Amino acid sequence: MRYLVLSDMHGNRSALEAVLRRVRRKRFDATLVLGDLVGYGAAPNQVVEAVRALPGRVVAVRGNHDKVAVGVDSGENFNHVALIAAQWTSRRLTPGNARYVRALPAGPRAVDDGVAICHGSPLDEDKYVFSDQDAAEIFASWRTPVTFFGHTHVTSVFSVGEGWVRVRQLDGARGELAILPGHRYLVNPGSIGQPRDGDPRASYMTYDSRRRVVRWHRVPYAVGEEQRRIRQAGLPEILAERLAAGA
Ligand code: ZN
Repeated sequence: MRYLVLSDMHGNRSALEAVLRRVRRKRFDATLVLGDLVGYGAAPNQVVEAVRALPGRVVAVRGNHDKVAVGVDSGENFNHVALIAAQWTSRRLTPGNARYVRALPAGPRAVDDGVAICHGSPLDEDKYVFSDQDAAEIFASWRTPVTFFGHTHVTSVFSVGEGWVRVRQLDGARGELAILPGHRYLVNPGSIGQPRDGDPRASYMTYDSRRRVVRWHRVPYAVGEEQRRIRQAGLPEILAERLAAGA
């Protein structure tokens, strides 16, 4: 099976369009969407509509920003900027797009034999997986060989074979990760709409389960255009600034 893995678009239309342009001629058996379609960015409807229009089989889960934007969660644990953006988003979403976001299921979700997806952690959809300690707790009970997760906006992988949990940040414009039999992986494709690993380019992945290879990709996009959209919307200035820094 060949998968396209998309996460944390956060209402960034230019970034998602750049990614979809890049993969336009490629064929996938399924597209995996790890949540946070909206929140922070100024184009929530366009991003939701692009996800709804994805061809073929789509397996998606909701993210924490999706939940707050459609009233599934109150956002009481959100910081000020995130809450302002979520409230702005909930006013802007069309009824049809809000319905779609509200219907996104909680993770984890099994995709196929040996592949699962979630937004935060497979044990708790809202939990951040940052450290090898976080990953070790998951690997203690979570048996799925390859789990894609988002939420941290850092393109990275945690793996366990015999012995210690290994952590690796996946940087550069592209690269390959071999999936070894008998090992287990928590793989983060990074964020399309708001990267936070110092590289402002949109980040996504593909996974070929037959050839056992994950590939990561970074795609430049029109950051200035998206910043303009955020400023015109009256969203907090920091949300425009951080896109240029990828932080
Ligand atoms: Zn996110």
